[in-house]
Amino acid sequence: MISVSNLCKAVQSPEGQLNILSDINLVLSESESLAIVGPSGSGKSTLLGILAGLDTPTSGSVIINNKDIVLMTEEDRAKHRSEYVGFVFQSFHLLPGLTAIENVALPMELKGDSNASSMAINYLKMVGLEARSMHYPQQLSGGEQQRVAVARAFACKPKILFADEPTGNLDQETGSKLSNLLFELNEHESTTLILVTHDLQLADKCDRKLNLRSGKSI
Ligand code: ADP
Ligand code: MG
Repeated sequence: MISVSNLCKAVQSPEGQLNILSDINLVLSESESLAIVGPSGSGKSTLLGILAGLDTPTSGSVIINNKDIVLMTEEDRAKHRSEYVGFVFQSFHLLPGLTAIENVALPMELKGDSNASSMAINYLKMVGLEARSMHYPQQLSGGEQQRVAVARAFACKPKILFADEPTGNLDQETGSKLSNLLFELNEHESTTLILVTHDLQLADKCDRKLNLRSGKSI
């Protein structure tokens, strides 16, 4: 379902060209999970952003459902993202002025779903936060906020869910509950899961691992 070939990303810096990603290749089928691991600065977030269609490479292709998202116009890539992609960030990225249920419902409302609120409640139930649906992010713990972010990402029924260090800001116990939840939802919804993580336990649960060092797959 996802096929990445000869992906490179370089930027110009005062010191000359900086190769952030060099010749990355990978194939991932539907409902598989992939962990992208490697030290800080190895290019993990850059790769995740390119696979999610949030950023573009210098060369190479990212074929998703027979279409190269690299060759799409910005507008088509945005459409692709809204149809296929969910994203969970390390720092949650919830809107502070909206309650948990409103945060989960918003992307569905933007898509024109008329029953966004009732679907949002269902997803909050799945992450065990039904009782906190009227709470604002600041009234929730980090782990609870991340569960809301996961509910929001899954509620749009993405074909591919990207998560950048989803347990990075959580203590170990909360983090492992959250990663179990990601895999439960991954199985339940047959979502392809692509994670960046420092958490080796979490990486081991994935079907595949991509190890990056200085932008190269090792
Ligand atoms: P990781 O997520 O593995 O920590 P990143 O993908 O964030 O790594 O970054 C990889 C390297 O590329 C880092 O050295 C970072 O400073 C550099 N980098 C990322 N984006 C840019 C950019 N737009 N311009 C210059 N350097 C960048
Ligand atoms: Mg990163």
